[in-house]
Formats: sequence, C-alpha cells, structure tokens
Amino acid sequence: MAEGPRLRALSVPRHTCKHSSACCSSYSVGPLLPDDVVRVEQALEAVREAFPDQNIDEPFTERDYHGATTSFLTKRDGYCTFWRDGTGCTIHSAAGAAEKPLVCQMFPVQIVSTDQGLRLGTRPTCLGDETGWDDGPAVDGAFIERIVGDSRGWVVRDEPDGEGIALQLLSVPDIDTDSIMAFLAGTDRESPPPIEAWLEERLQQLHLEFDKIGDQGPLHSGTSTADVLADFRTWHADRGDEAGSWPEVVPEVLPWVRDAMKRLVFLRQTRLHPTIPWSLVAYVAAARYASAWASAGGSLDRRKLGRGFSTWLIVMENPRLQRTLVEAGPPFAGSEGR
Ligand code: SF4
Repeated sequence: MAEGPRLRALSVPRHTCKHSSACCSSYSVGPLLPDDVVRVEQALEAVREAFPDQNIDEPFTERDYHGATTSFLTKRDGYCTFWRDGTGCTIHSAAGAAEKPLVCQMFPVQIVSTDQGLRLGTRPTCLGDETGWDDGPAVDGAFIERIVGDSRGWVVRDEPDGEGIALQLLSVPDIDTDSIMAFLAGTDRESPPPIEAWLEERLQQLHLEFDKIGDQGPLHSGTSTADVLADFRTWHADRGDEAGSWPEVVPEVLPWVRDAMKRLVFLRQTRLHPTIPWSLVAYVAAARYASAWASAGGSLDRRKLGRGFSTWLIVMENPRLQRTLVEAGPPFAGSEGR
C-alpha cells in the first residue's frame, strides 16, 4: 500500500452479510459521490432487464445535506428503491457489488479520519452482527486497501472529551455495565446508581415517540428494525410484575457487549451523542433492553440479543429519538458532563 496516514484497528475487521436488510432500510442511502451516481445510472439498464417490475424510475432524491443539495438514493415504503424482497439489492444481483454506491459496499466497515490517523473497524449497528465481528470471515484485504485509499469514503470525526478514559474503562477485564454506570456516577462498584426506573421511564417516552414518528426512518413498518421493536414492545407490554426491572447483562455475553461498546467509542460513533457519558448510558440501556428481551423464556437467545442490541443502537442514533432521551435529563447527577 502506498505511504499514507497511520491506520489503526482494534482487530482484523470481520463481517458476513446475513441479509437482515436493516442497512437498506434503516439508513438514508447517501450522500452519493458523483461517480456513485454515474455507476448507478449505468446499472439501471441491467436492473430493468433483470427485474422489469422494479420501480426505479426516479432512483435519486435531492436533499439538503450540510447546506448543499446532494443526491441520495430514493426510498419507497421505507426501503431503498433498489431493494427487492427475496433478492436483496437488485444492483448487486444484476450488475455486481462493485456497481453499488460506495457507502453500500462499505457498510458496516467504517474508516474514520481522526487527529491520530485513520481508524478502521466494523460498526456493531448491523443486525446481522451478533457473531460476525468475532467469527465472520475477514473483510477482503484488497477491498480494505481500496477504501482506505479513497478519502471520499472516510468519515471525519474529531476527538470527543473523555475518549481515552472511555477506551481504558472498556478495556478493563471483566468490567460489567454496573461498573460503567458507577464510574460515570462517581460512585464505587458496590453502589452503582439504580437506573432501572430511569430506563423504564425513558422507554415509555421512546414508545410514545415511535408512535408519533410512525412510518419514517428506521421505524417504517416491515423493516427489520421495526420488526424487532414490534416484538420487543409486545414482550414489554406482557412483562407484568417484572416491568421496571432491567437486570445486568447476562455474564456470558458481557465480553461481547464490552467489545461492541469499545468499537463504538473507537470509531467515534459517540460523536452522534452529546457527550461520551451520554453515549455510554445509551449503550448500557441498549444492552440491558436487548439482554432482558433475549433472555425471556429462561435462556439467552444469542441471535435475538444481537438483533435487539443493534436495533437499539440504531434507534438511539436517530436524532429525534435521541433528543427525547437528552431532554428528559440524565440518569444521575453528573452524567451529562463528565
Ligand atoms: S443500492 Fe443496494 S445495497 Fe445500497 S441501499 Fe440500495 S438495495 Fe441496499
């Protein structure tokens, strides 16, 4: 590889696509690069030939993006216009993976340009990632070389306050979410702040907010994220006496949760939250919601845990839902600013 900025990763990036469809429905597809637009336009004929009934008449939607009019792929019924039930991506199927927009080719691999060089990793916000980053196949080296060499695919993020401490905290062997909360609250491990009531109240507010948002963004009915949330809500409504109890994440998956949180901090995904403590509180909430839901019935369903955790991460990155969390106030004194 040509001499370039320093590149760091927490481990070999691994991923395997399990066709959850969350990436093609939960996110806006863009902003597109000028050559993404050219490639997609060139692929239209192959897609039309292979899938004559696919509605791709207006494949691009112009939107304001940081003050500039920018192209995104059009979404229909919550999904990218190129998504097809049973097939997946029709560009991928009819023209090949390399013809998709760069952002689609990369997901969930991310390159973050930081003041300390480039960081490379797999985001835990893929619904198929319950094991993928541990034991999935390594991402192809030639592909990594190509995306590392193309600065247009980098996300630029500056250093949030407290990043070094958060990374150290998440590297402590055997640390659990109670200890993380205790650290954020400035108490000791034996007396972590009780956040069950806070979680329950926030959850009720988020449920109301989902209803107001309706069929937008990650919550559009029929998408993988909406399916997970619908199942979660049904389970939550049936909890009866257990309502308000969000036990610690089951021990066998704590290392996995810790690894996911570390990846999120390393890739500066915390930048999507007001402060690092807020992001850690959100991640702990996501882990506890997902763990309690996936353990219903007595034993842990690992696949449910992965899908639940990823879904809650996606939900908590939604600006509107995040505002609900932030405006409601911190779970304990000091957690908003540490
Ligand atoms: S172009 Fe293909 S991979 Fe990209 S969002 Fe659309 S359906 Fe998914």
